[in-house]
Amino acid sequence: MSKMDNLRAMREARYAEAQKRAASTPTRPKAPVAPAASKRVAERAADATAADGLCGHRNMSGRTCTRESGHPQKSHRYS
Ligand SMILES: [Zn+2]
Repeated sequence: MSKMDNLRAMREARYAEAQKRAASTPTRPKAPVAPAASKRVAERAADATAADGLCGHRNMSGRTCTRESGHPQKSHRYS
């Protein structure tokens, strides 16, 4: 029982800490992560990826995905 209380106290403390940090830190874009991730994707699909930072995925009719390279969406966009 005391162990459970202890766990809950720890969780609440961490939650409060996270809330405090979220309030004091300005929301930053995930800029450092995105370029590295898209670069990795670009390297893996080098043959299909365009050099302009687009996904470059080809669909069956030969159209190219117009989303950015390494886009988080699971579907590709061929508009
Ligand atoms: Zn795509």
